[in-house]
Amino acid sequence: MEDFKLIAFKCPTCDSGLGVEVNDNVVYCSSCGNGFEIVDDKLVPIEVNFAKPLLPGQGEVIYRPFWLVNSYVKINSRDATGGWVSNLFGGNSNATEGNVLFYVPAFWMTIESAKIIGSQFTIKNPVASPQKYNVKMTGFNFSKDDAKKITEFIFLSIEAEKKDTVRSIDYDIKINNIQVLGIPFYKMPNNRYKDAVLGIEVQ
Ligand SMILES: [Zn+2]
Repeated sequence: MEDFKLIAFKCPTCDSGLGVEVNDNVVYCSSCGNGFEIVDDKLVPIEVNFAKPLLPGQGEVIYRPFWLVNSYVKINSRDATGGWVSNLFGGNSNATEGNVLFYVPAFWMTIESAKIIGSQFTIKNPVASPQKYNVKMTGFNFSKDDAKKITEFIFLSIEAEKKDTVRSIDYDIKINNIQVLGIPFYKMPNNRYKDAVLGIEVQ
């Protein structure tokens, strides 16, 4: 039974106990607000912040983690019929490069849900000033390495939703840093979760 591991960590900053779900690879100390990534059973600091619930909803608010992937995207060329409009670079539809903050779900959901919520949050960037909250957050299912792949997937999803057909595209995504953002969700009667920032349901 060596593969079952329940780990009891203490926060290196304030000595509080940290609850860690099996498979969680990031922990957040709700006492002092510091976050840590578990790398080879060691705690490595990572910035963790939270979004404020903006939309009313029923039931308890629970926080679920996203990776905030701060990137520089450069579209080198694309073979497309007709014009295209970019949603990625701060409203400048002619831009082909710039900083993009990708919102990448870190908790388990279907790939279709990840595409929808990841694209909408990335296009709208609705959490300009995340804050420290004294709340619990667990459920890290997608690792930082997964986040890099999902970032690319979200980028391509945003491109593919344009009216014209993007036949081929040549691009570079340079990742500058990755932080963690807790997004508030409501648990719905149908067992889906709906976020309290943009109101998108995931399953
Ligand atoms: Zn602490």
